[in-house]
Parts: sequence; C-alpha cells; structure tokens
Amino acid sequence: MDRTDYIYLNINSLSTLGKLRKQAYEKFNKLAKNQPIYRWNKDSWMQFESELDEKTLDDLDFESSTFISIDYDDKEINSKHPSSLCGLVNLGSTCFMNSVFQCLNNIPEFIIKILELNDEINAPIISEYKKLVKKMWSGKYNAINPSSLLDNIQDNLPHYSSYRQQDAQEFMNHFLHLIHAEFSMKTTVITELFYGQLQSTVKCLGCQQTEITNEPFTFLPLSMMNSNQKSVLYVKTDGEQRLVSIKVNSSIFFLKDLIDCFIKQHEPTLTSERIRAVQLVDNVITDLYETRQSLRNIREEELAFVEHPEKTDNEKYIKCQFVDHSTNELFRPSILLICPNQNCSYLHLSEQIDQLLGHLCSMTNAPASAFQLFWRDRQEKIFKLNVETNRNENLPYISAIRITMATKWVDIYRKHCIINHSTDNSMLAKLLTNFFREDYLDGDYHCLKCSKRTVAQHKSYLCLPLPHVLIIQLKRFIYDTNSNEKIDTYIRFPLYELDLNEYTVKDDNNNNKLENSSSTKYDLIAVANHTGSLLSGHYTTYAKNNEDKNWYLFDDQYVRKLNSDKDIVTKNAYILVYVQKNLIIKYNK
Ligand SMILES: [Zn+2]
Repeated sequence: MDRTDYIYLNINSLSTLGKLRKQAYEKFNKLAKNQPIYRWNKDSWMQFESELDEKTLDDLDFESSTFISIDYDDKEINSKHPSSLCGLVNLGSTCFMNSVFQCLNNIPEFIIKILELNDEINAPIISEYKKLVKKMWSGKYNAINPSSLLDNIQDNLPHYSSYRQQDAQEFMNHFLHLIHAEFSMKTTVITELFYGQLQSTVKCLGCQQTEITNEPFTFLPLSMMNSNQKSVLYVKTDGEQRLVSIKVNSSIFFLKDLIDCFIKQHEPTLTSERIRAVQLVDNVITDLYETRQSLRNIREEELAFVEHPEKTDNEKYIKCQFVDHSTNELFRPSILLICPNQNCSYLHLSEQIDQLLGHLCSMTNAPASAFQLFWRDRQEKIFKLNVETNRNENLPYISAIRITMATKWVDIYRKHCIINHSTDNSMLAKLLTNFFREDYLDGDYHCLKCSKRTVAQHKSYLCLPLPHVLIIQLKRFIYDTNSNEKIDTYIRFPLYELDLNEYTVKDDNNNNKLENSSSTKYDLIAVANHTGSLLSGHYTTYAKNNEDKNWYLFDDQYVRKLNSDKDIVTKNAYILVYVQKNLIIKYNK
C-alpha cells in the first residue's frame, strides 16, 4: 500500500463500530461500504467485520487510544478524483500557509511553470516548493506535510518560526517575493504572472500641475466600506447624477455635517443652502430630511443630495419629472427648474429643458423624436407643452414639467446608470470603484512648483497589460489605536467576468490600447477564507479544479467537493484570486 495518511478521530467509547467506520471513511472523503476495520494489537492487525457494527467500542475492548486502519480502492479514487486534490497537514497554526499554497496550487499557468523548472536550480525555497507541488500533483497522497518548505521559509523570514496565526495575504505576498528574489532575474514567473502596474496621478489644485507615477503591484487591497465612508447619490441641476463617496470621521453625527463634508470634498463652489437631502426610493422622493437629523436614522442607500438652482425672489421652483413614455414610471430622480412667479412661458424654461434633453441624449444617443414634453397645472391636469404655441403664451399656475422618453431609450439610460453607480450588480465593483475613485490629499501634498503644501486631487488607474493573476484582498482586519476589529461584511463577488476595463488608463479619446476586450476580464479561481476573530481564527481555501471544473474546499489535510457554486461567496472571503479569461489552460500530466 503506497498510501499512508494519518488522521485523528475523537470517538466516545460508547459509540458503535458502525459509527467509527462511517467517521473514518468520511474523514478521507470515501464511502463507508462494508469493509472491515483493522485494529493494531501489539504486533498485528485484528480484523473487525461489519457484522459487529452494532457493538460499542467498549464491548469490543477498544482502548482509549488505539490505532485503526481502513481499506479503500486506490483505482476507484484515481478515476473519481482529479490529481492535485491534496490536503496539507497543519503544523500548528499554519492554516494561513496551507490556505495560500492551495490558492496557488490551483493556478494552472503558475504550477506548469514551477514544474518545468530545472531540478538543479540553486534556490532552496523554489526547489522545496517544486517538490511539494510535484507531490501534491502526483495523485498519490490525500494529504502531505509541508514542513521542509516551511523550514526554508523560516530561514529567510524568522517571524514565521513562531507557529502563531499569521495573516494569509501577507504570507502570500512574502512567499511570492521570496520566489522572485531566488531567481535573481528581473523577469521571473512571478513578475510575468502576478505583477501589474498602477498609475497614480496627483494634480495640485493650486497650480494645476499633474504628477504621474507608475508603481508595480501584486495585489489590490480593497478597503471595506465602513463608517468612515458614505456613498450618496448626487443629483445635479443639469441632469447629471452620480454616486459620490464622502470621507467622514467619527465626529460626524448630523446630516448637516455630512453635507458640509460633501461640499468641501466634491463641490466647493456650492453653499449648504443649495443642497437638499432627500430620501429616494425607486426614483421617487419619499421624504425631505431636516439637516439636524442624525445620520443614524438614515439609510445610506436611500440618501440623495439634490442640487437646488439659484433663484431670485421673483422666481419659484417647479419640479421636472422624467417618465417612461409607455409605463408612466419615473426612470430617474426629478430635478428642480426655476421660472417666474407669474406669467411663465416656455421661453423661460427652454434653456433649462434643452440642457436636460442634451444630457439624456448624450447618455443614450436617443433622437429628438424619443421625447415628449408636458406641463402640469395646480389641479394636476396635464397639458402637452408645445414649443411653438407656448413660446410666449402664459402657462397659468404651472406646477411641474414632465419629460417622457420612449421605453427603448429608457432601458439604455438605466443600464448606463447601473454601470455608473455600480450599486446593485456586485458589491466588489463598489469596492473597486472606491479604490480607484478620485480623492483629495488635503494638506498632505507638497507641490514642487508652488513650493508649499497644497490641496491635490489624486486618482489611480490600472496600466495595460493587466496582470494575468489578479489577487484582491478584502481588508477585513482593522488595526488602529482605538480598536482592533474584524469586519464581517458580506461582499458579493462575481465568479465569472469580473471586468476591470473601467479602471484602466485611457488615451485622450477614452480608448484603451487593447483591442481584445477579454483581456480586462477575469474568472475566479480561488478564495482564501478566514473564520473566527482577529486573534483566533482559521483559514481555509475554496478553489476550482482545472481538470473537472468543480469547486473544492481545502481545509488543512481535508479536501471536500462543494455542493454548489453558491457556497463560494461568503462573509469569510478574505483573498480572491482571479485569472485572466484568456489564460486558463489545461494541464496535461
Ligand atoms: Zn502646485
């Protein structure tokens, strides 16, 4: 027998032989048929047939610590399971390391390159890692012991000698850098597969000078949306609407303060009187918030800031609604127009309406025939707005304007808004948008041209080509002076077609240089999970097997097939490993 794997079973002496068999086979992912169980008895194996299944271990004189053995058919296993499904023994709080090795072990391109390396290579970590990978892919073992590789890693990074729980993401980064360093070359399998470039632009708001720097990265650390970041929909008078992130600190308690932060960070020319905070549900304003209201009672996803245009005492506000021509539904939030208190005609509104139609056209390419205009009187009666006849005519008691758009164009407009706001389809997209959004270096930036500290606008982009393997860290661990905590927020992330196109550097015509759009798209290949708290926890890995395309759980020495793809996305996800769509290749033994 060339398979010898050990496991520990904790079993009550009153338990039956049948239960013991079931438990032992389950631990090895095998079916408990009616094979005998063997017990080590001084110098030989004693056989216990399944007829004894009802007997307790006490009845059968099993001692409190006993070696048992089970049989299973190797041929059956090999045909049922792809190779490379191999557990890793925990050497004492080393699940962080096992979890990382399992993530890497399921990146086919990387493993092929490692196995192709010359055995004579003078690099202790790479050679040990190659030995480990070879064993893991041999199909001979259910679980193996990675201690010789760990020994070599500890020689280079002594803090991994303590057998304490460590951060898996940090370890992955260290491990990839160790391998890269051992090659002592500029371009290695690590740079080829894992390295990307981030371009960061910093524009001084004093002199408008822009500074551009490029830096390599091996992973994207994404901050979790937490209390120091608020997302609010901002609806402008000219029709534009966008989701803005507002940085806040713990002293922000009232809506008024949030509006002040918003103005400072996004619209410094506005005054707080011109921002109205509203509750917006399905594009309908359902409540007007008082500025002294506590933020605690406001649902962030329903909060919108509506810009009010400036008006004189002789003018009033009227609402402009945007309605789907056939369904009569509002397809976006209303905005406010201004018109004279008395004797309002189309002429007074035409400029504002033209601006709104221009906005809708620019988003959808809809022709003029897609729109119709109406006005509403005080009794809620609706009349068609006629550009010619109402041009100079008084529209008595006008209370609202309504712009309708044909359904076909409404659908295009809605799609555009979803992409812009990235609200619903994926929370990961929201974190990415947040990572790549424009922010401000307030007093932290020293401008060489102004030769002083100034306020600067900062934004990052991904450079092309993107890395073949994209590692995303969901930053669940917060270490600061007041508290150490783990954020358990559930983040939805896509298994297929994560598209990074919108975060890439574009040329002046807003095109990126790659013609093949698939190269900005990624499929998920592995997830490192962390369960438990900041101080004590456990790491496991979900990974997709390249041979049978099934997802498996790797939990130290145990490997188990997942029942459903739905099990992959959990609030424990900590590291996401994505592989570029055109890269997944088959590994032939
Ligand atoms: Zn400057």
